[in-house]
Amino acid sequence: VTGSNKGIGFAIVKDLCKKFDGLVYLTSRDESRGRAAVEILQKDGLTPQYHQLDISDEGSVKNFVDYLKTSYGGVDVVVNNAAIAFNGVLARPRVESVKELKAPEPALEHMASRTEPYPVQARETLKINYFDTKNFCNAIFPLLKPHGRVVNVSSSAGHLSRINGQEPQASNLRNKLASPLLTEKILDELINDYISSAEKGDWYANGWPNVPISPYYISKVALSALTRIQQRNFDEDSREDLIVNSCHPGYVKTDMTSNKGFWTIEEGAVCPVYLALLPPNIAEPKGAYVWKDKTVVDWANGPAPGLY
Ligand code: NDP
Repeated sequence: VTGSNKGIGFAIVKDLCKKFDGLVYLTSRDESRGRAAVEILQKDGLTPQYHQLDISDEGSVKNFVDYLKTSYGGVDVVVNNAAIAFNGVLARPRVESVKELKAPEPALEHMASRTEPYPVQARETLKINYFDTKNFCNAIFPLLKPHGRVVNVSSSAGHLSRINGQEPQASNLRNKLASPLLTEKILDELINDYISSAEKGDWYANGWPNVPISPYYISKVALSALTRIQQRNFDEDSREDLIVNSCHPGYVKTDMTSNKGFWTIEEGAVCPVYLALLPPNIAEPKGAYVWKDKTVVDWANGPAPGLY
């Protein structure tokens, strides 16, 4: 479970320790925060394993994947939970590049509590939530065993309908993102186009949304679009019964939401854990977008059930 030293990821580890018949790895980018989280679970009588993992650090990803390969030869479950949002208090990304960036502030900007320029927020959010998550997947997927299960923790913000910038550009984007012909390469290009337009200040005119924390919305739409591509690839894979889904865990009280959510972290873990433990050879959900109550939501055509 990536990013599991706190929040929903921590609760996912806790529940998997109780329900999964195998070893569960709590991972964190900061080792001391991760070890402290492990100690909390140990006091509850649980026995999570620990490994450092920063999905933004190629060396860290390689180190973890090599370790799993050497130690176990494969993995059964991957939960991509790690993410950032620029509206959180403690969920601050490391933005070394802020001072170097000379991009202008866009005209429409309502990022209430954060002062980083919009292009920085766009670049950093898409980097961690989309590109780094994808790279981690591509590194670890070769280790998936038959019947492997992957959970991409998306968000209500990740429903396709959130791409609601200027028309007809927004419809064009939605059509491309929902296309069964979408590939990782095309998706990367679309996301890089968004990052460029965030720097120029014309992302809304190009169809991308202009709501508060729109980079977060776009990163989660990209993750849910990636999930559909990944399932198509799994369907062609020689390994039997590989399944990936994305989900909305609910609006949960964590650092990311400045503790303003409605649900506890344990409630937020329910849907990700359900998807992580889908029984062998189940027909669905597969490549789907799953709501916190475990129902499949039509990502491409259906209205989003709401924000929470
Ligand atoms: P938190 O901010 O509480 O936790 C995020 C976790 O991700 C932390 O452990 C953080 O580590 C880790 N992380 C961030 N960047 C990296 C990285 N590069 N490598 C490894 N770990 C990293 O968030 P939540 O628990 O609220 O969110 C968990 C997931 O649920 C996210 O994907 C989020 O988008 C999603 N989600 C959350 C909702 C909510 O209401 N809370 C609603 C919908 C979706 P560190 O402690 O070092 O910062």
